Amino acid sequence: MQPMNAGMAPGGSREREWAAEIYRQLDAAYGMPDWRPYYAPVDELVLTILSQNTNDVNSLRAFEALKAHYPTWHAVLAAPVDELTYTIRIGGLGPQKAPRIQAALSRILEERGNFDLDFLAEWPVDQALDWLTGFNGIGPKTASIVLLFCFGKPAFPVDTHITRVTRRLGLAGTKDSPEKIQHIWEALVPGEWYYSLHLNFIRHGREVCRAPKPRCAACVLSTVCRYPDKTV
Ligand code: SF4
Repeated sequence: MQPMNAGMAPGGSREREWAAEIYRQLDAAYGMPDWRPYYAPVDELVLTILSQNTNDVNSLRAFEALKAHYPTWHAVLAAPVDELTYTIRIGGLGPQKAPRIQAALSRILEERGNFDLDFLAEWPVDQALDWLTGFNGIGPKTASIVLLFCFGKPAFPVDTHITRVTRRLGLAGTKDSPEKIQHIWEALVPGEWYYSLHLNFIRHGREVCRAPKPRCAACVLSTVCRYPDKTV
Protein backbone atom coordinates (compact mmCIF):
# COMPACT_ATOMS: atom_id res chain seq x y z
CA MET A 1 0.00 0.00 0.00
CA GLN A 2 1.21 3.47 -0.77
CA PRO A 3 0.89 6.44 1.55
CA MET A 4 -1.79 8.83 0.41
CA ASN A 5 0.60 11.48 -0.78
CA ALA A 6 2.41 9.01 -2.97
CA GLY A 7 -0.47 8.71 -5.37
CA MET A 8 -3.66 10.26 -4.09
CA ALA A 9 -4.78 13.81 -3.80
CA PRO A 10 -5.80 14.85 -0.30
CA GLY A 11 -9.47 15.65 -0.21
CA GLY A 12 -10.63 12.98 -2.69
CA SER A 13 -13.84 11.19 -1.77
CA ARG A 14 -12.11 7.87 -1.05
CA GLU A 15 -9.60 9.55 1.23
CA ARG A 16 -12.30 11.54 2.98
CA GLU A 17 -14.20 8.33 3.71
CA TRP A 18 -10.98 6.73 4.97
CA ALA A 19 -10.38 9.70 7.27
CA ALA A 20 -14.02 9.64 8.40
CA GLU A 21 -13.70 5.98 9.34
CA ILE A 22 -10.61 6.77 11.41
CA TYR A 23 -12.52 9.56 13.13
CA ARG A 24 -15.49 7.27 13.84
CA GLN A 25 -13.31 4.48 15.22
CA LEU A 26 -11.45 6.83 17.54
CA ASP A 27 -14.72 8.34 18.73
CA ALA A 28 -16.13 4.88 19.41
CA ALA A 29 -13.02 3.95 21.37
CA TYR A 30 -12.40 7.14 23.34
CA GLY A 31 -15.58 9.19 23.11
CA MET A 32 -16.16 12.68 21.80
CA PRO A 33 -14.75 15.30 24.17
CA ASP A 34 -16.85 18.44 24.47
CA TRP A 35 -15.08 21.61 23.45
CA ARG A 36 -14.64 24.13 26.19
CA PRO A 37 -11.88 26.67 26.76
CA TYR A 38 -9.73 25.95 29.81
CA TYR A 39 -7.50 29.02 29.79
CA ALA A 40 -7.58 32.62 28.68
CA PRO A 41 -5.92 32.89 25.25
CA VAL A 42 -2.74 34.55 26.51
CA ASP A 43 -2.45 31.89 29.23
CA GLU A 44 -2.88 29.17 26.60
CA LEU A 45 -0.23 30.82 24.44
CA VAL A 46 2.30 30.90 27.29
CA LEU A 47 1.40 27.37 28.40
CA THR A 48 1.91 26.11 24.87
CA ILE A 49 5.33 27.78 24.67
CA LEU A 50 6.19 26.07 27.96
CA SER A 51 5.01 22.72 26.58
CA GLN A 52 7.51 22.72 23.71
CA ASN A 53 9.87 19.73 23.97
CA THR A 54 8.59 18.56 27.32
CA ASN A 55 5.73 16.53 28.71
CA ASP A 56 2.36 17.83 29.89
CA VAL A 57 3.12 17.30 33.57
CA ASN A 58 6.29 19.38 33.57
CA SER A 59 4.91 22.11 31.34
CA LEU A 60 1.90 22.48 33.62
CA ARG A 61 4.17 22.63 36.65
CA ALA A 62 6.22 25.35 34.99
CA PHE A 63 3.05 27.27 34.16
CA GLU A 64 1.78 26.98 37.72
CA ALA A 65 5.17 28.13 39.06
CA LEU A 66 5.06 31.14 36.75
CA LYS A 67 1.51 32.05 37.78
CA ALA A 68 2.37 31.61 41.47
CA HIS A 69 5.48 33.78 41.21
CA TYR A 70 4.08 36.64 39.13
CA PRO A 71 0.70 38.23 39.86
CA THR A 72 0.23 39.71 36.37
CA TRP A 73 1.52 39.39 32.81
CA HIS A 74 3.04 42.85 33.25
CA ALA A 75 5.13 41.37 36.08
CA VAL A 76 6.24 38.47 33.86
CA LEU A 77 7.25 40.94 31.18
CA ALA A 78 9.17 43.12 33.63
CA ALA A 79 10.97 40.23 35.33
CA PRO A 80 14.73 39.77 34.86
CA VAL A 81 15.05 37.05 32.25
CA ASP A 82 17.33 34.99 34.52
CA GLU A 83 14.69 35.03 37.23
CA LEU A 84 11.95 33.98 34.82
CA THR A 85 14.21 31.23 33.44
CA TYR A 86 14.73 29.93 36.97
CA THR A 87 11.02 30.12 37.80
CA ILE A 88 10.02 27.94 34.84
CA ARG A 89 13.01 25.57 35.01
CA ILE A 90 10.84 22.49 35.70
CA GLY A 91 9.53 22.75 32.12
CA GLY A 92 13.02 22.47 30.60
CA LEU A 93 14.67 24.76 28.05
CA GLY A 94 14.09 27.76 30.30
CA PRO A 95 16.84 29.82 28.62
CA GLN A 96 14.93 29.55 25.33
CA LYS A 97 11.40 29.71 26.64
CA ALA A 98 11.76 32.67 29.04
CA PRO A 99 12.86 35.16 26.34
CA ARG A 100 10.25 33.71 23.97
CA ILE A 101 7.50 34.33 26.51
CA GLN A 102 8.68 37.86 27.20
CA ALA A 103 9.02 38.63 23.48
CA ALA A 104 5.46 37.41 22.85
CA LEU A 105 4.06 39.42 25.77
CA SER A 106 6.01 42.48 24.70
CA ARG A 107 4.68 42.33 21.15
CA ILE A 108 1.09 41.73 22.27
CA LEU A 109 1.26 44.70 24.62
CA GLU A 110 2.89 46.90 22.00
CA GLU A 111 0.37 46.05 19.28
CA ARG A 112 -2.81 45.71 21.32
CA GLY A 113 -2.19 47.84 24.42
CA ASN A 114 -3.09 44.94 26.74
CA PHE A 115 -2.84 41.15 26.94
CA ASP A 116 -6.36 40.41 25.75
CA LEU A 117 -6.33 38.18 22.65
CA ASP A 118 -10.10 37.89 22.30
CA PHE A 119 -9.94 39.94 19.10
CA LEU A 120 -8.66 36.76 17.41
CA ALA A 121 -12.16 35.32 17.69
CA GLU A 122 -13.29 37.83 15.05
CA TRP A 123 -10.43 37.20 12.65
CA PRO A 124 -10.48 34.64 9.82
CA VAL A 125 -8.46 31.60 10.83
CA ASP A 126 -5.71 32.17 8.25
CA GLN A 127 -5.21 35.76 9.37
CA ALA A 128 -5.09 34.69 13.02
CA LEU A 129 -2.58 31.91 12.22
CA ASP A 130 -0.38 34.36 10.33
CA TRP A 131 -0.42 36.80 13.22
CA LEU A 132 0.41 34.21 15.86
CA THR A 133 3.13 32.49 13.84
CA GLY A 134 4.77 35.87 13.37
CA PHE A 135 5.97 35.59 16.98
CA ASN A 136 9.46 34.21 17.54
CA GLY A 137 9.23 30.57 18.61
CA ILE A 138 5.52 30.18 17.84
CA GLY A 139 4.89 27.72 15.04
CA PRO A 140 1.75 26.35 13.42
CA LYS A 141 1.12 23.83 16.22
CA THR A 142 1.22 26.42 19.01
CA ALA A 143 -0.86 28.90 17.02
CA SER A 144 -3.42 26.24 16.10
CA ILE A 145 -3.74 25.12 19.72
CA VAL A 146 -4.58 28.67 20.79
CA LEU A 147 -7.15 29.06 18.02
CA LEU A 148 -8.76 25.64 18.44
CA PHE A 149 -8.72 25.38 22.22
CA CYS A 150 -9.58 28.98 23.11
CA PHE A 151 -11.89 29.94 20.26
CA GLY A 152 -13.02 26.68 18.68
CA LYS A 153 -11.61 27.85 15.37
CA PRO A 154 -10.93 25.30 12.62
CA ALA A 155 -7.16 24.95 12.93
CA PHE A 156 -5.83 21.41 13.40
CA PRO A 157 -2.74 21.25 15.65
CA VAL A 158 -0.35 18.44 14.78
CA ASP A 159 2.02 17.25 17.49
CA THR A 160 4.51 14.40 17.56
CA HIS A 161 1.82 11.77 18.28
CA ILE A 162 -0.44 12.88 15.45
CA THR A 163 2.52 13.03 13.09
CA ARG A 164 3.57 9.49 13.93
CA VAL A 165 0.08 7.95 13.82
CA THR A 166 -0.84 9.70 10.55
CA ARG A 167 2.35 8.49 8.89
CA ARG A 168 1.78 4.93 10.08
CA LEU A 169 -1.84 4.94 8.96
CA GLY A 170 -0.59 5.77 5.48
CA LEU A 171 -2.39 9.10 5.20
CA ALA A 172 0.99 10.83 4.98
CA GLY A 173 4.42 9.90 3.76
CA THR A 174 7.05 8.81 6.26
CA LYS A 175 8.90 12.09 5.90
CA ASP A 176 5.96 14.46 5.66
CA SER A 177 6.28 17.39 8.06
CA PRO A 178 3.74 18.22 10.77
CA GLU A 179 2.76 21.27 8.70
CA LYS A 180 2.00 19.09 5.68
CA ILE A 181 0.08 16.65 7.87
CA GLN A 182 -1.97 19.55 9.23
CA HIS A 183 -2.92 20.49 5.68
CA ILE A 184 -3.80 16.86 4.87
CA TRP A 185 -6.20 16.58 7.81
CA GLU A 186 -7.71 19.99 7.19
CA ALA A 187 -8.47 18.90 3.61
CA LEU A 188 -10.04 15.61 4.71
CA VAL A 189 -12.29 16.32 7.69
CA PRO A 190 -14.64 19.15 8.66
CA GLY A 191 -13.52 21.74 11.19
CA GLU A 192 -16.07 20.66 13.77
CA TRP A 193 -14.20 17.34 14.08
CA TYR A 194 -10.79 18.87 14.79
CA TYR A 195 -11.06 19.14 18.56
CA SER A 196 -12.19 15.58 19.14
CA LEU A 197 -9.86 14.15 16.50
CA HIS A 198 -6.87 16.03 17.91
CA LEU A 199 -7.43 14.85 21.49
CA ASN A 200 -8.28 11.27 20.51
CA PHE A 201 -5.27 10.99 18.23
CA ILE A 202 -2.97 12.10 21.03
CA ARG A 203 -4.51 9.59 23.40
CA HIS A 204 -4.21 6.86 20.77
CA GLY A 205 -0.57 7.75 20.17
CA ARG A 206 0.26 7.64 23.85
CA GLU A 207 -1.63 4.47 24.72
CA VAL A 208 -1.66 2.31 21.59
CA CYS A 209 0.29 3.57 18.58
CA ARG A 210 3.29 4.25 20.76
CA ALA A 211 6.57 5.53 19.40
CA PRO A 212 8.89 2.63 20.11
CA LYS A 213 6.47 -0.19 19.38
CA PRO A 214 2.82 0.15 18.37
CA ARG A 215 0.30 -2.18 20.00
CA CYS A 216 -1.42 -3.12 16.73
CA ALA A 217 -3.19 -6.16 18.14
CA ALA A 218 -5.10 -3.84 20.50
CA CYS A 219 -5.68 -1.08 17.94
CA VAL A 220 -9.16 -0.03 16.82
CA LEU A 221 -7.63 1.34 13.62
CA SER A 222 -5.92 -1.87 12.53
CA THR A 223 -8.40 -2.54 9.69
CA VAL A 224 -7.89 0.92 8.20
CA CYS A 225 -4.16 1.20 8.92
CA ARG A 226 -1.62 0.65 6.15
CA TYR A 227 1.49 0.51 8.33
CA PRO A 228 3.65 -2.19 6.75
CA ASP A 229 5.31 -3.16 10.04
CA LYS A 230 2.21 -3.80 12.11
CA THR A 231 2.95 -5.72 15.28
CA VAL A 232 0.89 -8.76 16.23
S1 SF4 B 1 -2.52 -0.67 13.53
FE1 SF4 B 1 -0.58 -0.33 14.65
S2 SF4 B 1 0.57 1.16 13.42
FE2 SF4 B 1 -1.58 1.22 12.75
S3 SF4 B 1 -2.52 2.88 13.94
FE3 SF4 B 1 -2.88 0.96 15.04
S4 SF4 B 1 -1.17 0.79 16.50
FE4 SF4 B 1 -0.58 2.33 14.96
